[in-house]
Amino acid sequence: MTIEIVPGAWLPVAAILGLLVGSFLNVVIHRVPAGLSIVFPASHCPACEQKIAPWDNVPVLSYLWLRGRCRHCGVRISARYPAVEALTGLVFMAIGWRFGQTGWTLAYWAFAAALIAAAMIDHDHQIIPDRISLGGLGVAMVVMPALRAGHGLTYRDALVESAVGAIVGAGVLWSVAFVHARVSVAMGRRFAHWPGEGEALPRPMEPDYWLWFPGLGLGDVKLLGMIGAVLGPAGVLDTILASSLVGLVLGGAQALAQGALGRPFGFAPAIAVGAIATLFLPPLWILELARGL
Ligand SMILES: [Zn+2]
Repeated sequence: MTIEIVPGAWLPVAAILGLLVGSFLNVVIHRVPAGLSIVFPASHCPACEQKIAPWDNVPVLSYLWLRGRCRHCGVRISARYPAVEALTGLVFMAIGWRFGQTGWTLAYWAFAAALIAAAMIDHDHQIIPDRISLGGLGVAMVVMPALRAGHGLTYRDALVESAVGAIVGAGVLWSVAFVHARVSVAMGRRFAHWPGEGEALPRPMEPDYWLWFPGLGLGDVKLLGMIGAVLGPAGVLDTILASSLVGLVLGGAQALAQGALGRPFGFAPAIAVGAIATLFLPPLWILELARGL
């Protein structure tokens, strides 16, 4: 069964769906790192604990209508809530425009939602929950081959493509993080939280030597594994290149704003921007760009 939405209504429908998903992502971003249920209890004001009525929970509009304050206690509501909603609405509309009324759009909507949640949680807490990275990887390994198969690929080939993508994505980032850690140690560089206070550097027979790095975390490695399963090997390489460029810009902007170069910041926001940009760029665009120069 297919539901056809008249062409003129499609993008507004996509945007509204994105706004609603964005509202749900605010709950995920707030509750998942704290280990809380994302279903119960219903949304409430963090200051006065009053339940938020459905008409005060309309994405973006309620924030504007209430002038950014809780109706009951008047406490300021972070502008990030409507920002996440608006961003998700825009991204959903762009994906709907690019991929039309297809299964790809549904898959990439879920992909983008997972990336936005991971980016915000990493920005807040410098962690990426396994429920998003590994959970997303599991879902992608089932859904993406089913989508790819039938477009000139057998299901088995499509499954291999997702698996290779996951290995390439996680493998490239792990290699970068591992080499960076070893070179840093060799050069005698010190990091604030690596190793911990009074702790010795991990040695090769310890798991930490292989899995614990300064700067880039294992969370980023797992996130790129998930992205590789969705986008395939070429797509995840494009993502890593785009993320590096975005990371340079974001990191530079943060250093300028806070005057603190080398302050730790989550890399997932840059990865998320890179992965979503990759959906709209031609495959291996960096090669095309190089050829054009
Ligand atoms: Zn309140």
